[in-house]
Amino acid sequence: MGVHNVMEDVVRDTLLSYKSNMNLACDCEQCLNDITALALNEITPRYIANSKYSPYIRATHQADQQGATMILTVITKAATLVSQSPRCENYIAQPEH
Ligand SMILES: [Zn+2]
Repeated sequence: MGVHNVMEDVVRDTLLSYKSNMNLACDCEQCLNDITALALNEITPRYIANSKYSPYIRATHQADQQGATMILTVITKAATLVSQSPRCENYIAQPEH
């Protein structure tokens, strides 16, 4: 198996926990992936070679109050960007003005 970026799990967990507070224009899988990708581009990755350690490292990040706040800020920013112009099929079908 390859390497795994634990921050993917942390961002995903955080997004799923808070998405109901984020006024998302759409919360389909495509939009959630777009938000996750945008957020991950802003966050220093934390790679591990063995995903069995992932829950431990996730717990460490979730216990880190300052880190958790930073991650939530980045995700909220990404969610706002994606909500302004969703790229999923729920929206892409609409004709341009
Ligand atoms: Zn969508």
